Amino acid sequence: MSRAVFLPKFMKGTITHSLFFYTTISLISELIDLPFSYYREFVVEEKFGFNKQTLGLWLRDHILAFSLNTVIVNVVLSGLLKIFEIYGESFIIYTTGFLVVVSFAVQSLSPFIGRLFYKFTALQDENLKHQIENLASKFNFPKTNIFVIDGSTRSSHSNAYFVGLPWYKEIVIFDTLIEKQTTEGVVAVLGHELGHWKLNHIPKLMLIQLLDFTQIFGLFGVFIYNKSLYSSFGFTDNQPAIVGLVLYWIIKEPISTATRFVTNIFSRKFEYQADEFAKSLGYQDELSKSLLKLDINSSSVTNTDWLYSAYYNGHPLLSERLSALGYISKEKISRETKSKPLKED
Ligand SMILES: [Zn+2]
Repeated sequence: MSRAVFLPKFMKGTITHSLFFYTTISLISELIDLPFSYYREFVVEEKFGFNKQTLGLWLRDHILAFSLNTVIVNVVLSGLLKIFEIYGESFIIYTTGFLVVVSFAVQSLSPFIGRLFYKFTALQDENLKHQIENLASKFNFPKTNIFVIDGSTRSSHSNAYFVGLPWYKEIVIFDTLIEKQTTEGVVAVLGHELGHWKLNHIPKLMLIQLLDFTQIFGLFGVFIYNKSLYSSFGFTDNQPAIVGLVLYWIIKEPISTATRFVTNIFSRKFEYQADEFAKSLGYQDELSKSLLKLDINSSSVTNTDWLYSAYYNGHPLLSERLSALGYISKEKISRETKSKPLKED
């Protein structure tokens, strides 16, 4: 620590050093990733016609995302390091409590963060608005603002989501979804999203994530005070918690592989449940057609081995969802909004 003579006096504490270390490492890895991201967006996505963003917008998004991430992680990291410092070996209870607060704060900030990246405008299509409001009111989703965001400025991939915080609610639809789907198709997708809200999937996922964090930090307790771990990597004089955290993050990778599999089981289960919810509202066909169109337009992988899919995908694949929905195709689904009958009756 004494070697960092170039730093001003107030920045010479262990926590400041740790934050400086984290920020430098993440800046380096961001710079390394930048050309790959450029290739992904402006070569691969461009080749298939998905990329809609300008170079300036891509750079602005990267700078904004990196800055936001750095601020949030630095706040979380300084909180965690302070807890390790104050509570020593009994840090686990306080870490869990702290992460509950962080998790709520990030959820609460999500509408604000969305607005930093996208332009939100009130939904103009009165017919669509009326149908969405009708659907939401059936399940006591409070009357709220329905926004359209300019996803088309980035990519032609489309989406929709609900923000269902106890104190703030909104429904957000990508303009690309409205552009590519029929009104019924958009409502069917929102039926699925409403299912996530009605079945409390967000709090359940937060709880699963919290259990995961508890498991991660519970095990970290074994490593953080293990002097041989530090000395194996040359840290014989002092053992800063940040170094223990970095080493532990590498060591725990095989365990994370197993826990990722478990969290995927839950998130896939929730997707099936939300589809089932939309089906119970009578959207079996419309949702299936929307999902088909979404995947056709995104050129997504539609089928793989079930075990591969269960391990790697938090969302079930199109073929798995359609078969769970019991969808039988009666018409040809194409990229165009209007679908054509397979055969005339
Ligand atoms: Zn979903």
